[in-house]
Amino acid sequence: MKKVKTISFACVLILLLAIGTKLLFSPDSVFKSEIDPYPYVLQSNQTKLIVAELKQDDFLVSLLEKKGLTSNEVYGVSKAIDKVYPVTLLRPGDKFFLYLQNSKLKHFVFRPNFEKTIFIEVINGNYKAREVISEYKSQRVNISGEISTSLYVDAIKSGIPDRIVDQFTKIYEYSVDFQRDIQPGDKFTMYFNSYKNRKGEIVKTGDLLYTSFSPRNKQSEFWLFSNGKGIENFYDEKGKTAKRRLRATPIDGARISSSFGARKHPILGYRKMHLGVDFAAPTGTPVLAAGSGIIEYAARNGAAGKYIRIRHTDGYKTAYFHLSKINVSVGKYVKQDQVIGKVGSTGRSTGPHLHYEVILNGKKINPKRLSQLSGKPLGKEEMYKFKKRREEIEQLRASDLN
Ligand SMILES: [Zn+2]
Repeated sequence: MKKVKTISFACVLILLLAIGTKLLFSPDSVFKSEIDPYPYVLQSNQTKLIVAELKQDDFLVSLLEKKGLTSNEVYGVSKAIDKVYPVTLLRPGDKFFLYLQNSKLKHFVFRPNFEKTIFIEVINGNYKAREVISEYKSQRVNISGEISTSLYVDAIKSGIPDRIVDQFTKIYEYSVDFQRDIQPGDKFTMYFNSYKNRKGEIVKTGDLLYTSFSPRNKQSEFWLFSNGKGIENFYDEKGKTAKRRLRATPIDGARISSSFGARKHPILGYRKMHLGVDFAAPTGTPVLAAGSGIIEYAARNGAAGKYIRIRHTDGYKTAYFHLSKINVSVGKYVKQDQVIGKVGSTGRSTGPHLHYEVILNGKKINPKRLSQLSGKPLGKEEMYKFKKRREEIEQLRASDLN
């Protein structure tokens, strides 16, 4: 989860605005709108616009030459841009807008990020660069919807930026099996900070403040709260984190290819209990530690192939089979979500997949049961602060809904 401190961000924004305003009032205004210069409109209609995009292994100089600028112009622009934005920071995908008049470069515009725009103006062979910081309105957004296709598709359709959907998925991935628990009609709500331009379009999103999700008609809500140590996390009404002590899925974005329970064994042929969960994923996909613990086994282990076993607290162990690579060694402590190895097909395996087992007091259990194993609740004092924060968020939400 990426943590953006909303308050300090607002301060930075105000500071940037102050700088921006100073620049805005410089006398040589060429563009209609400098506050939201994208897409900018030139007043003159004799101007030709060329858009140049930096590709992988491309340099600004060669790109501008390709677009037909003279070597003097290329030199002038790259010198000028370097004064306000080091050219070493340029990345593939960066776009440059070249405005030409009578085949001569008049203006060069570049937007390194959502709030900064660099203008270079060419006057009598001199290249003058300046920066403009754009102003955006900060606004909270509450969007609710219902699943008809998939959480991702329906959330995007209802106008939620994908960064927010990713955050939402990360909150619920510990408790919800996104392949099995979700049905059409399941409801979701995401309440988050955003920055909008003059047209009301979201140009940047902040963090989620509140989420609600009701897979199988069971509502589960979380609120963003910064604990005493200044660490932000999502907590439910009981003050428990969304994060579970052990992951039911120790891999990102994988598909369950075989679940826990009786099945016909793909290699041996006969019916046998499948005492783990198989996740189909390409060789090399990172395998994450389901929870923090000590590595108990990390080596080849017969039919299990390259195999890792972690000992957690309270009698829990997790095991990872058929790996192509082992990144840890016996006796070492690993943290939850740390990459411990890579998916493979070593040992008795029909193709690249991860066979994952959860062991409780020596008995293999269904990893799905881990979804009930919630994180540590907040202490008494922290719980009091969390309740206050929750009420604040709920008041904000109520006023935003009106
Ligand atoms: Zn298996």
